[in-house]
Amino acid sequence: MVGPVLELRPLMPRKIREPAVCPCCGAVLSREKKEDGTVSSYLYCVDYYGCEAQILGRLVQWCSKKGLDIEGGGPALIEKLFRLLDIRSPDHLYTLTPQKMIDAGIGEKTAQNFCEALEKSKQCSLEQVLHGLCIPSVGEGTSDRLANHFLNMDNIRGAKLEALLKVEDIGPTTAGDILNWMVNPTSRTILAGLYNANVNMGKQNPQGIKQARR
Ligand SMILES: [Zn+2]
Repeated sequence: MVGPVLELRPLMPRKIREPAVCPCCGAVLSREKKEDGTVSSYLYCVDYYGCEAQILGRLVQWCSKKGLDIEGGGPALIEKLFRLLDIRSPDHLYTLTPQKMIDAGIGEKTAQNFCEALEKSKQCSLEQVLHGLCIPSVGEGTSDRLANHFLNMDNIRGAKLEALLKVEDIGPTTAGDILNWMVNPTSRTILAGLYNANVNMGKQNPQGIKQARR
């Protein structure tokens, strides 16, 4: 059994002071408001699109099993792609070619495998895209409910507040976060890039990869 070593604990434990700014980018930290009006105990950095830690975290989530399940897209490769090729968002990933990656100094096999995995990921499901995008307040469950309710990304993009509130478990906070995300110019560029790359953002693939693989 592993437990705390009590004799090593200082008699007067130091109070840990909460950070005021993001240790990565220096932006202000804030707390999420929950649907019931209370405030979450988690702090988050407000520079959603500018903070490097968030950029990398979102790309890793896009590639994760619960995102688009892109093999090889772990933190190590993602960080390389960010530093060497300025890959900052999911749409950027789909502009990669094996040659671009090799020219940037990434191994040939890694480059080829990753680009193949990216190609395959275009057959994902709408829920996977929603979860992979890391829209604030939209976790796995909300991604599923949004996908089942609206059936494609265009419907979600066009949804007004009242329409979003009709989805089970979506209240004003989550709906507001979705609306804010959708009107942000960077978000719009990301979605446009994903449409351009032919990433599936509809329910026309109901028996898609997600179900088949799990
Ligand atoms: Zn930050």
